Amino acid sequence: MPEPYLEHMTIIENASTSRPFTFDNSYARLPQQFFTRQVPSQVAEPWLIKLNEPLAAELGLDVEMLRRDGAAIFSGNLLPDGADPLAMAYAGHQFGSFVPLLGDGRAILLGEVIDHNGQRRDIQLKGAGQTPYSRRGDGRAALGPVLREYIVSEAMYALGVPATRALAAVSTGQPVYRESILPGAVFTRVAASHIRVGTFQFFAARGDTDGVRALADYVIDRHYRELKDRDNPYIALYEAACERQAALIARWLHIGFIHGVMNTDNMAISGETIDFGPCAFMDTYNPGTVFSSIDQRGRYAYANQPGIGQWNLARLGETLLPLIDADAEKAVELANTVIQQYGERFQIHWLRGMREKIGLATVEDGDLELVQSLLAVMQAQQADFTLAFRRLSDASGSGDGEALFLSTFREPDAAREWLAGWRERLTRDDGRTEDDRAAAMRAVNPAFIPRNHRIEQAINAAVDDADFSLFEALLAVLAKPYDDQPGFAAYMEPPKPEERVLQTFCGT
Ligand code: AMP
Ligand code: MG
Repeated sequence: MPEPYLEHMTIIENASTSRPFTFDNSYARLPQQFFTRQVPSQVAEPWLIKLNEPLAAELGLDVEMLRRDGAAIFSGNLLPDGADPLAMAYAGHQFGSFVPLLGDGRAILLGEVIDHNGQRRDIQLKGAGQTPYSRRGDGRAALGPVLREYIVSEAMYALGVPATRALAAVSTGQPVYRESILPGAVFTRVAASHIRVGTFQFFAARGDTDGVRALADYVIDRHYRELKDRDNPYIALYEAACERQAALIARWLHIGFIHGVMNTDNMAISGETIDFGPCAFMDTYNPGTVFSSIDQRGRYAYANQPGIGQWNLARLGETLLPLIDADAEKAVELANTVIQQYGERFQIHWLRGMREKIGLATVEDGDLELVQSLLAVMQAQQADFTLAFRRLSDASGSGDGEALFLSTFREPDAAREWLAGWRERLTRDDGRTEDDRAAAMRAVNPAFIPRNHRIEQAINAAVDDADFSLFEALLAVLAKPYDDQPGFAAYMEPPKPEERVLQTFCGT
């Protein structure tokens, strides 16, 4: 009898035994300098905290199977068939300083699937272990930031703001060591792609124009197909990317969102909000609001976001110059024209949304001043941004809406005066009924946002007591942010003084 082959067999930790995904991994087919292949590290005791079943279904995944094996798959312990796990290379400006090599230090792209709408989506594990880009990091994520990203990214989706999505959260059963010892977790993120402004910078910084071109072609093919046949697709790409960011950042301002770390590596070329680290929603209106503990100088304050968007896009433009025109001077001129139009683009999106927030369907010259004067009163009288606009929705009629609106201001006199001017403007608006206007306003002025204190309460219960009920409740309320949901009225309320959260942390 021949010798048995048994002695040559090895146990493969990441054995592929399941096929719940139909992967088509286009990024893995790009040139090798784009990424490093890397399998996730094993974790001790994976437990599925949450599976986003509607999203899983939208992605064409086997939900039944994921209920059973989701803990193993979304922790990185079990690699699904067809996955081609890799860490992406990128660079980036962090708080204005350029770092030529960042890359996925704790994120691993499992692969891409085509969803039910025919859109290509990345599935990425965040906190799945070290990669060649980890530097001194442990490659891991703590439970708190994972829950925060889950809550906020799903809230953004429900609010109608382009954002990466949350597919799953898994606890690892392993500690992570930060300032204190925390429970570890892995977050599964779904994105139109994970390509960042910093990805372009990675190649440009190395003088690798072929790399920039390959990336730009890939991005056009994946995110900006309509530009493919343009005479100069690269300047068109730049223009379209600026347009998407202008629209996105305007949406952030409309809902009081503060990203917190708008480094160029945290700006997705797809136009989705990405990287929910120390992000937070503003309660009391103040354009200078900053929550992030590491943003000492307020670089990424609420009202600075449009300008920082332009700064980041200027860095993107620099990477595209050799593609835009062989004549360097001409390339700069073309790119400058585009970046100089960004301010106007932003202003158009912002004012359009603000008009909707105050219930205007028509356009008049004085509308900007009307909006600005409301914001000025809100700031002076410390009104809650979300609540004031929500209550304004009901203030055009004769009910108790006006009193409720006025009660969000410390001193109501200036707000009352503003209401008179607003009512006068409404007489010249289209002929909608009060009810119709109120309904339209409620559809853009959310009742529910992921308020910091609520997130913090949900995280504390989960981390301290393994109690996920507040996390679940918050997700349920935030899934319908524009509905009244009277049973959850308490979730509309701003924090009490003792509940106020003054700082948020990136959690890396
Ligand atoms: P972020 O602040 O999350 O945008 O991350 C900035 C950079 O640090 C990226 O290159 C991340 O991959 C990396 N990074 C963040 N946290 C960790 C970690 N725990 N281990 C390794 N790399 C990390
Ligand atoms: Mg990042």
